[in-house]
Amino acid sequence: MTSVTNAATHSASPYRLDLSQHPCRTLLEGPTPIQPLPRLSQALGGVNVYVKRDDLTGLGGGGNKLRKLEFLVGEALAEGADTIVTVGARQSNHARLTAAAAAQAGMQCELVLTRAVPRDDFEYLENGNILLDDLFGARVHDLPGTADALAFALARADALRAQGRKVYVCPLGGSSPVGCLGYAACAAEIMTQSHAQGLSFARIIVPNGSGGMHAGLAAGFAALGIDPGLVLAYTVLAKAEPAHAATFEKAGKTLALIDPARRIEGRSIAIDETQLGEGYGVPTDAMREAVRLVASKEGLLLDPVYSGKAFAGLVQAARSGRFARGENVLFVMTGGLPGLFAYRSAFEGDHDDR
Ligand SMILES: *Cc1c(COP(=O)(O)O)cnc(C)c1O
Repeated sequence: MTSVTNAATHSASPYRLDLSQHPCRTLLEGPTPIQPLPRLSQALGGVNVYVKRDDLTGLGGGGNKLRKLEFLVGEALAEGADTIVTVGARQSNHARLTAAAAAQAGMQCELVLTRAVPRDDFEYLENGNILLDDLFGARVHDLPGTADALAFALARADALRAQGRKVYVCPLGGSSPVGCLGYAACAAEIMTQSHAQGLSFARIIVPNGSGGMHAGLAAGFAALGIDPGLVLAYTVLAKAEPAHAATFEKAGKTLALIDPARRIEGRSIAIDETQLGEGYGVPTDAMREAVRLVASKEGLLLDPVYSGKAFAGLVQAARSGRFARGENVLFVMTGGLPGLFAYRSAFEGDHDDR
């Protein structure tokens, strides 16, 4: 068994989580940077916005799923698996990064992808993540939007096992409690870094899709004795109530893996549904504006499905005076750049004249 080599867990910081009994395959180079966004902050008029650059994670184009995959691939290898099967939407970043991590670990990968987003244009169906899945050598199963992807994946895993393969199945977004450990480690990393940089954050803002990143951060903060209500998530998939229930359950199960003596309160899981729009993967005007704003003020890229909508929530909160002047907030940049190419048409003709 290899141990977590993440700097946050091994440094002399007071914010230390011992995750060493969970197998981990290192996929990150070390802590991702925390950076200020001065021009953007100025445009928003008062709040100091910082970003945690989880888009700067090296493998397979990068993104937040690599933190979960460190523990998921770690567990798969510890079980002797030679094949990973996972599920997602056609443009799933999780599927793409699972394919990359499997390739790097010398494992086979099968992706069960549904057409859950109401799009049938060529760019959505064939460009972006789906192109990369193919390059990483994954086999893609193309299912209709109404299909039960996990049931299909479990049946496919049985069929592969009958052929002698050793199969590890990852749930949607890699958000099993073991996968969520990656973001518990990130909570310690954020505290260690902000302590070292002399920064403290009034709020940490994230997107909530499958809820694993939010749940993992919440579990990590709870394990460190910090109120997980520090995290504010904008849901991009479920309505607030089911998103809260799923995230709360995952956070509790993740915390039980770290410190069974601690508990999380339901009211510490903060979820805002105002940026969801018509649903998962359906663009909103606020998302388009947020993507253009961050790109044009700071040269940084959000994605159209997750971080663009969550950042739109941050923009709206800042404009409505929800943050005090001079307050520091941290936005977790989660990657998803390939999605921009699948959503080219969503950005066509939406900008003002320049
Ligand atoms: C998956 C994903 C998220 C959301 O993470 P969850 O753990 O599924 O809630 C956010 N941003 C990007 C780019 C993602 O791919």
